[in-house]
Amino acid sequence: MKKNHLLLDTIFPHQCVGCGKYDVLMCPDCVAKNMAVETISLKDKQPNFGDLITLGEYRNPFWRKAVAALKFSYLTEIADSLAIIFAGVLAQANWDLNQAIIIPIPLHKTRERERGFNQSAVISEKISAICHIAWDDNLLIKNKKTKSQTTFSHQKRFANIASSFSLANTNLDKIKNKTVLLLDDVITTGATITEAANLISQAQPRLIHLLGVARGS
Ligand SMILES: [Zn+2]
Repeated sequence: MKKNHLLLDTIFPHQCVGCGKYDVLMCPDCVAKNMAVETISLKDKQPNFGDLITLGEYRNPFWRKAVAALKFSYLTEIADSLAIIFAGVLAQANWDLNQAIIIPIPLHKTRERERGFNQSAVISEKISAICHIAWDDNLLIKNKKTKSQTTFSHQKRFANIASSFSLANTNLDKIKNKTVLLLDDVITTGATITEAANLISQAQPRLIHLLGVARGS
C-alpha cells in the first residue's frame, strides 16, 4: 500500500479533483461549487426506511473523480474530505443520531483482498470519529462476488445483486432499535443499497437512512 501510494504520488501529484490546485484533493471552493445535496424520503418503500442523502451527481466530473481517487489512489485523503462533508450534512439533517450506527456496504472478501480495503468502510470509520457515531463493518456480509453492475442492463442489475448479502450471526443487538446509516460510494439504481437495507430491517432497527457520495451513473 505504501509503495503503491508513493508510486501514485509521482504519477498523480496531489491536486484538487475539481480545479487542479496543488496540495489539496478537494479544495473548499470546489466542494462549495459542486455540492448538490439531495434528500429523498424512502418512507413509502418500507415503514422503517428514513431518507436517502447523496452529496452530488456522479455525472459531475468533480464527484466522479473523487470516487475514482477513493478507489484507486488517494484513499485516506479523499475519505477524510468526504467524512468532513458528510459530518456537515448530518449536522444539517433532522435525524436523531443518539443511538445510531454506520454500516458500510461491504465488498466481497476476495475483492476487498484484491483492493486492500473497502472504501465505504474507510469513510464510515472517519465519519464515526468526527461525529462520535458507532460503526461496524462486520454485521453485513457480501456473499458472492457479483459481476460489475455496469456490465448489466438496468433490469438485470436487480437480478444480479439478489441475495448477495447476509447478516452476521452474532452482535445483531448492535442494530436492534438503533438508527442505521447505511453508506455506499455510488448509488445508481439503488438496487444494492435497498437490498442491504431490506436485510438489515430483519434485525429490527428503529430506522434506516441511506448515505451515498454520488447518485446516478
Ligand atoms: Zn478545487
